[in-house]
Amino acid sequence: MDTIGSNAQDLKASNRMLVLKIIATHYGLSRTQLASITGLSKMSISNIVSELISSDYISEFENQKEATSSGRKPLSLKLSEHSPCICGMLIERDFLQIALGDLSGTLILPPVNVPLDSNVLSSDEVIQYLYQAFVTLKDSTSRNIIAIGISSIGPLDSKNGLILRPPFFHNIEIMPIISEMTKLTEIPTYLMNESNAGALAEKLYGDASSVANFLYLHITNGIGAGVVLDNKLYDGEFGQNGGLGHTSINFAGPRCECGNAGCLELYANIKQLRYRIQELKYLYPGSPLTPLSAPSWIQILDAANTKDTLAILALDQFSTYIAQAITNTLNILDLSTIIIDYPFNVPGSIMEDLLAQKLAILRPQPFYHSIKVQKSTFIGKASLIGSISIVADKIFHFELPLCFS
Ligand SMILES: [Zn+2]
Repeated sequence: MDTIGSNAQDLKASNRMLVLKIIATHYGLSRTQLASITGLSKMSISNIVSELISSDYISEFENQKEATSSGRKPLSLKLSEHSPCICGMLIERDFLQIALGDLSGTLILPPVNVPLDSNVLSSDEVIQYLYQAFVTLKDSTSRNIIAIGISSIGPLDSKNGLILRPPFFHNIEIMPIISEMTKLTEIPTYLMNESNAGALAEKLYGDASSVANFLYLHITNGIGAGVVLDNKLYDGEFGQNGGLGHTSINFAGPRCECGNAGCLELYANIKQLRYRIQELKYLYPGSPLTPLSAPSWIQILDAANTKDTLAILALDQFSTYIAQAITNTLNILDLSTIIIDYPFNVPGSIMEDLLAQKLAILRPQPFYHSIKVQKSTFIGKASLIGSISIVADKIFHFELPLCFS
């Protein structure tokens, strides 16, 4: 039976982890600021900080930015350059990315990128690519690697560590990624779909860290979503949630390969955007998109940001589809904020603005509160930072023990 009481040791460990988390997620705090944020006494903070310094989790430095008028530079705290790190792995359809990061979600070495060529790969080959990159990074650092977090395309079963036949992914059936990687590396390994991992990165390290309830929307070839409820990532029973792209916006629509009909992804995708542009371009001969046979995402967004009507019309339809799907979610979950992430750095805020407008129409005031729509803090990198966040979050919640000696 689970116990709910706590003794002095539990309390001490809980306060220590709280202080470590706050130092990891707020660079350069002083002891006084830590006491103010945590509500702990200055004496407690001083004891915990000394312990964390002596076990080499954190270090102190003279903060130039906070220098007083007399020139005195107060001591601030940060993660130690010797503190343990986390290996993050990102599995996409056409590439793998492997990185080492610390508890602040900061990469400590440039990531290893492995393009996946068009030859059909086996599950073992993908696992070997990941393992070789892990070995390369491990050999490049003297820091201890605590665990591996894997952020992957879905569908997957995070609880049982299985990637389950993602569409267009080398015809790989079932990849037992956790058991294989644990066998090879002998360190704990965790799996999460990339949308949930991106949401976790935003919650731990991003601008949404103080937002209690939000939807993270990952717009790439497919459309995924991660939900944070009550300050915690909601990852479902088997980690199979987040497939916003496979919610139906038209039950009489075409059959999707997921089995459902009229899925959002069948309408809101780059092919449909291009088709819409082709349909309308004779009306807009001056548009920079008109001469292009297959404009890229960035070209379309660039044009829309400069108020090109053709681009805006195409994106307007795209955001209508997304707003329709999100409205179903918002009507079930009372969320305040939507965060949009893309696989590349997107200029301007046209998509966010269009989506906010569409939602305002579908959810009129005064019946509903307005929804804030903003861009991801880690634009294009949220899924990779998310893979590191998977492990950091487990550490901060005592699901993965740290050694303090
Ligand atoms: Zn579908």
